[in-house]
Amino acid sequence: MPEVKCNVSNCVYWAEGNNCHADTILVEVDQHANEDYDMSAAGHFVDDALHKDKASTVAETCCHTFRSRH
Ligand code: SF4
Repeated sequence: MPEVKCNVSNCVYWAEGNNCHADTILVEVDQHANEDYDMSAAGHFVDDALHKDKASTVAETCCHTFRSRH
């Protein structure tokens, strides 16, 4: 399992040292940033979350697992 570093400190999965503690994360293209894709607790894709996209640059990708701490 890869070590995921993240700078988004107001996410519920964020931990000290800028580490992501989510069991699974879903990375999407910005084109789908506002889609409500989801994954099960076991890390399985739910509904339309399972598909393939292509990005041209790093700026076109985003984490879809982010949940605000409020
Ligand atoms: S779920 Fe995404 S936004 Fe949240 S800590 Fe992990 S990588 Fe960062």
